[in-house]
Amino acid sequence: MWKALDIDTWIAGRRSSLDAVKGSVSGIIGRVRAEGDDALIDLTRRFDGIDLTGIAVTDDEREAAYEQVDTRLVESLIEAETRITEFHEMQRPDDLWLREIEPGIILGQKVSPLRRIGAYVPGGRAAYPSTALMCTVPARVAGVPEICCCTPPPVHPITLVALDIAGVEEIYRAGGAQAIAAMALGTETIPKVEKIVGPGNVYVTAAKMLLREEAEIDFPAGPSEIAIVADGTANPEFIAADILAQAEHDPRAACALITTDAALAEAVGQAVERMAASAERREVIAQALENSGFVVAGDLDEAIEAADIIAPEHLSIQVADPLAVLSRVRHAGSIFVGPYAAVACGDYASGTNHVLPTAGYARQYSGLDVRHFCTTSSVQIISREGLEAIGDTVEGIADAEGLTAHAESVRIRRR
Ligand code: NAD
Repeated sequence: MWKALDIDTWIAGRRSSLDAVKGSVSGIIGRVRAEGDDALIDLTRRFDGIDLTGIAVTDDEREAAYEQVDTRLVESLIEAETRITEFHEMQRPDDLWLREIEPGIILGQKVSPLRRIGAYVPGGRAAYPSTALMCTVPARVAGVPEICCCTPPPVHPITLVALDIAGVEEIYRAGGAQAIAAMALGTETIPKVEKIVGPGNVYVTAAKMLLREEAEIDFPAGPSEIAIVADGTANPEFIAADILAQAEHDPRAACALITTDAALAEAVGQAVERMAASAERREVIAQALENSGFVVAGDLDEAIEAADIIAPEHLSIQVADPLAVLSRVRHAGSIFVGPYAAVACGDYASGTNHVLPTAGYARQYSGLDVRHFCTTSSVQIISREGLEAIGDTVEGIADAEGLTAHAESVRIRRR
């Protein structure tokens, strides 16, 4: 089961599962576009096996959810929400900055929150209260006034409690591609949003990709991944534990160990097989391990290059001098440095965001942060003196482009 990986094949495999479902997802989107709520009800019966009596979760249901959740767990969610808020407050850009770059010319930038966003919180194979926090807290920190959430039924009380802690009151029972279509297009019950964020399985991710002309999306955040760059000093059991933690998400999850030490690759393989045999979600893990394995690199340079090619969702650095590797890697959704930085810390409660690009998309997208929920407008304040300073340059370029009305709009002010 634990095998050597070919990186090119691995990458191709991550994207092909998405392409494979695009046809059926287009059909789902077409039905939501044509039939609205009726399609949601029918597709929920088909894919989730549930007859919906109401799409919207009521305030009473949300409040009653606390009675079904252990008090300690509620406290943990509150603590996680506090840490996530604190980290994302640090990312928050200034609402407005202005700098006088020369007399009479002030340039700057104004940052404004989006008006209405939709968060997708997965719920098929597991409950994801952590994702409920990760998707909605940064939007709240950014100042988005309308935040709605779709999550597949049956909606777990823990997810409702997490959304309540995050301050989200607009929650719908809808999962998969149909939920993404409902938020992007709008239905009788779910008003259209401007942007959709959140991870999900291949159906969710394919729907986001297909609907991006209707609503902006964050990025493809599909089945979980981890790559570990390790040398002979690493602890094979810590690495195996991180591998299993990502593998248990989804049969399509994938894990890659990139190591300079062939003996470590073997030790990790043994630990993975031993620990997988007794894991609670061993069936999902066994399937995910089919997509997983190791690469033996000639040296750390080669290992870093391999990690950059994979551009994994999570990158764990387990080497003698991890900070030196940190300064050199470029493409990864979230980076975990040193033996004690278990990926699960970032998944739940350290405060960083766990909604991250997968399938190599970390090469062009960044993980979810406050800036995903804002637009920026450039600003200029120019006086008569400032216009004199740049007037000749503007008129000259405008005339050269043949856009004489542009040039005249400056000349008229200088006469
Ligand atoms: P999910 O909510 O993403 O998907 C469940 C929905 O899939 C169902 O409601 C159903 O409508 C739909 N569906 C199921 N089978 C279908 C079919 N044959 N055709 C069409 N639609 C179908 O929940 P999940 O399945 O548990 O997946 C959650 C995913 O989120 C996992 O892959 C996990 O790894 C991933 N995840 C990713 C990140 C990230 O940041 N990248 C973070 C957390 C979780």
